[in-house]
Amino acid sequence: MSDTTGDSELPDRTDTVVVGGGVMGTSIAYFLARAGDRSVTLLERDTLAAGSTGDSSAILRHHYGDETIYTDMAWWSHDFFRSFEQEVGPRIAYEGSPLVRFADEGTPGGAYARDGYDALAERGIPVSMQEGDAIVEEYPMYDGASEFDLAVSDDTAAYSDGSDAALGFARGAGEHGADIVTGVSVTGIRTHNGDVTGVDTDSGPLECDEVVVAAGPWTPQLAETVGVEIPIRPVREQIVLLDPPSDYAEAYPSLTPTTSLPDGEWYIRPDFGEGVLVATHRYVDEVDPDDYDEEPDEEMMLELVENLETVIPELADAGIKGTYCGVYSTTPDHDFVIDEAGPDGCYWACGFSGHGFKHAPAVGSLVTAVVRDEEPTLGDERIDLDYFALERFEEAPDGNGAPDDYI
Ligand SMILES: Cc1cc2nc3c(=O)[nH]c(=O)nc-3n(C[C@H](O)[C@H](O)[C@H](O)COP(=O)(O)OP(=O)(O)OC[C@H]3O[C@@H](n4cnc5c(N)ncnc54)[C@H](O)[C@@H]3O)c2cc1C
Repeated sequence: MSDTTGDSELPDRTDTVVVGGGVMGTSIAYFLARAGDRSVTLLERDTLAAGSTGDSSAILRHHYGDETIYTDMAWWSHDFFRSFEQEVGPRIAYEGSPLVRFADEGTPGGAYARDGYDALAERGIPVSMQEGDAIVEEYPMYDGASEFDLAVSDDTAAYSDGSDAALGFARGAGEHGADIVTGVSVTGIRTHNGDVTGVDTDSGPLECDEVVVAAGPWTPQLAETVGVEIPIRPVREQIVLLDPPSDYAEAYPSLTPTTSLPDGEWYIRPDFGEGVLVATHRYVDEVDPDDYDEEPDEEMMLELVENLETVIPELADAGIKGTYCGVYSTTPDHDFVIDEAGPDGCYWACGFSGHGFKHAPAVGSLVTAVVRDEEPTLGDERIDLDYFALERFEEAPDGNGAPDDYI
């Protein structure tokens, strides 16, 4: 019996267990259940979206410099998010909002902006570029805009809401017969002769043939129980929600484009209900995901406001509507882990490094293809999953190489 509210009992056995009820686990459960050839049980130790997903800024962009594997996954996923209600059933929060990259020629940021421009243009994804005075005309709220050589706009970028999407996927998975069980923690993976035979939980064992672990920053702990090493560092990021002054909101009804500055260490995004979200994007503050300070540091809030003053002075007088912190599950190269490793029937989807939300539909669909031993394709495009294989860390500790940390 399926339960879409997320509190059903453990079944006696199931074909496939999905561990983790974030946007990845719920998307994977949805696509697996929709395929219709196996029973699926999702186990979440807390409530759905209790991890990174619930804190996500949920920006949907397509510009990824020259890392076009992400452009392809993000574009396919964005199409899916746009038609979420049609595809999955429930409606989810969604708002179109261009993402602009300000940059200087001859810098890594400039090269990244231009590479992404070319990648989007080649694929027919709406993108535009301004140079010189045209930047100031296009972005009048940005006092600092005149200092940059170019601005590349990912014109059809958008944002959504992490919890809403995870709950939507969970409901959709339930409609296709999956059991969604919350408040049950997986404590280990059972094997026999090198094959997965079940999972141990704090509510007893559950027999299964396959397990897909999408447990965010907690994944390495489970991986260790079957001798799989996954290099993930949980890092804390800090978020402030601003209430812009009314004259600013009147002058700029779309408030601000989503953007990060060339140093890439913080970003700004309009929010549902006329707010403005400002957040760090630093990857430096390593924490225990079970025990970290959920309130931003005073000095970081001051720094964010000072940064804002330099680019949008009118927002320096904004009121503060809310503050919180969230955790990125970060790999050395900031690339994902999507792989089968360890005992036969054991799959891993983790290490989304602060940019996973926008790819959740693609990840659900690709993991489903891997579990069903099919070609990993999105539309007509074959996705090279070797890019996300754990093996890359055996060949080099930083895997695919130093990351680009732009949002
Ligand atoms: C502040 C912030 C801003 C972000 N902004 C963006 C953005 O703008 N765009 C973007 O694309 N991405 C963004 N991200 C990244 C994105 O949100 C994540 O990549 C994505 O949510 C990861 O989802 P997940 O399901 O892998 O992990 P999580 O959401 O962490 O889910 C893992 C789940 O597993 C459960 N779990 C753990 N261990 C067990 C166990 N043993 N048994 C059962 N359940 C278990 C946890 O309780 C948790 O619910 C942001 C992240 C943060 C924190």
